[in-house]
Amino acid sequence: MRGTEIAIVIKAARFAADKHRQQRRKDVDASPYINHPIAVADLLANECGVTDPVALCAALLHDTIEDTDTTEQELRQAFGDEITGVVLEVTDDKTLAKKLRKQLQIEHARHASPCARLVKLADKTCNLRDMATAPPADWSAQRKADYFDWAGEVVAGLRGSHPKLDALFDDAWRLKEFV
Ligand code: NDP
Ligand code: ZN
Repeated sequence: MRGTEIAIVIKAARFAADKHRQQRRKDVDASPYINHPIAVADLLANECGVTDPVALCAALLHDTIEDTDTTEQELRQAFGDEITGVVLEVTDDKTLAKKLRKQLQIEHARHASPCARLVKLADKTCNLRDMATAPPADWSAQRKADYFDWAGEVVAGLRGSHPKLDALFDDAWRLKEFV
């Protein structure tokens, strides 16, 4: 990566760390939320060899609009239209009921742009890994298993753009039998 590309990836890491600073994951230790976007970017960069700064920035920023007070305008100003577009593609509309949002993720997957596919697939892979190693504290085995099944349905529409990432998702999905 060139210097300007490294700089924007670091800027995205700092922006996300600041925006998620009050948030925790749902595991029993209430881990810092920022560990998750970093894990998604790390999976893409270091397990899949992705070097596209748009994908890596979008991975770091993927939950900022959905889960913090970050606005689309703020992202456009700081990171430009391309990165912001990918973040918007992977952002759920939280005004909709949860069941509908879950269904829309399945339906929208096959229409996602190449970059959004990478981020979404890596996000689901990281969440399945977490579900197996540091799951939401109060979830039943059935609820965790349901999450694996739903993630599998979303990812069915995302497959085929990165064989290594597809394989890593499949490895994570096989953790279902241990939850
Ligand atoms: P949620 O969307 O509420 O929670 C899962 C999300 O939490 C993940 O996608 C992830 O999103 C985030 N997350 C935060 N911490 C963790 C962690 N430690 N490990 C993994 N993910 C974490 O899930 P749902 O309510 O949709 O539940 C999933 C399934 O369970 C559904 O299919 C639903 O039908 C079923 N269900 C079962 C219930 C039951 O009691 N049996 C009740 C409700 C639903 P992000 O990457 O955005 O942070
Ligand atoms: Zn996420």
